[in-house]
Amino acid sequence: MIHDLKKIFDIVAQSSITIDGKIIPAAFTIPAKEQGAPFMILAQMHGNEPPGLAGIALAMALSEAGLLAKPVIGAIGNPLAAAQYFDAYLKDPHARQETRDAYRCGLAGDGRLLPDMNRIPVDFMTRDAADHHTRRAQELFTLGQHIWGIADIHSARGNMVCITDHKHDRDLKYTPIRNLLTELAEAISAHASTSVQVKTFKTILTPLPNIKSQTGIEAGRHEAPDAPATAAAFTLALLHTLGITAVAPLEAKEDGVFIRYGVRPRITYADLAHHGVLHGDDKIYMARRCEALASVPERSDTVIVRRPDGHWALQSVAQFSTKPAGEMHYAVYQYDEMEAISKDDVVAVAIPSGVAFHAPESFSGIFVSKSAALYDKDPAVGPWPVTADKIGSVKFCYPCHVGEMKLNLD
Ligand SMILES: [Zn+2]
Repeated sequence: MIHDLKKIFDIVAQSSITIDGKIIPAAFTIPAKEQGAPFMILAQMHGNEPPGLAGIALAMALSEAGLLAKPVIGAIGNPLAAAQYFDAYLKDPHARQETRDAYRCGLAGDGRLLPDMNRIPVDFMTRDAADHHTRRAQELFTLGQHIWGIADIHSARGNMVCITDHKHDRDLKYTPIRNLLTELAEAISAHASTSVQVKTFKTILTPLPNIKSQTGIEAGRHEAPDAPATAAAFTLALLHTLGITAVAPLEAKEDGVFIRYGVRPRITYADLAHHGVLHGDDKIYMARRCEALASVPERSDTVIVRRPDGHWALQSVAQFSTKPAGEMHYAVYQYDEMEAISKDDVVAVAIPSGVAFHAPESFSGIFVSKSAALYDKDPAVGPWPVTADKIGSVKFCYPCHVGEMKLNLD
């Protein structure tokens, strides 16, 4: 599947669009029956997020079949990082997706992590465009002034399928993605400094009067087999609703009901309820209750035991099953994106003290703290295990309050 998406990447990456004499690389005009201002499908604003290319592929297929009424631009947000991502994928397609996490932003020649394409300095238009990041931001802005609407398709480190932002409720008619984040921007800016030095591409576009429609999604795990299909199905529903194609969406029924994920500002490990005194040498592992081998979660390979001397220790599942070092109480466990957590659930445990960290309320987390063993380059993931002195600064997640909501889509 990723090989197929690379073919779409190659077509777009080798194309360019000329606007007012300015050449914008890695953008492709998909021809339509009518002329006029284009709609844009933006993929790979983060290089390691290929599912958005399936949205561009869908528009290309509609065009080929003579079913695209209005022109669409397919664009790669960060062509440098995306090219590096595909190189890494082709070199070792069986390595887990986390090994390619650095291509979210891409790497400089000296191995340095490049800036996030979605963190754009406020004065980017007047800066010297010597570096790729600034130059691409300027190019994307030029595209942004030229289009009437945009779908920005992302994917995630975990199983996150949701609408992250939208300008008009009516644009969500028939969308197959029924999870809707609200207050995401407010939650993110809650801890940002008051003098904002960077913006996202979305916040740069939103005030432009020409942008009549603006929607962003997470289509699932970066390399999950179903994520491209989710991206394509979403794109079809959106293009249909916006009158860009008459082809019917996969689900042509609409009751307006969505699952609302009201995003709250991020919490740290210190915001979890814990009783008992941490040791100076404690390390806090993400964990859940588990008292028997039969109930160890599939993605856990380590359990937490209480040894006969009263200290707590890690033990691999394989070792525990042959020679348990003590009584099993927890499994080391990576909570997934949007996984439901109940009030008072144990979500992390300190080793060796055994101090347990409980969820202070019921929520589903997004941008959840990730295992440092899998993510060694980006401290923003909130890597665990967390040392005792860092619990007040390492992110646990952005908790979401989940409930049903009904939108008026007319
Ligand atoms: Zn992204």
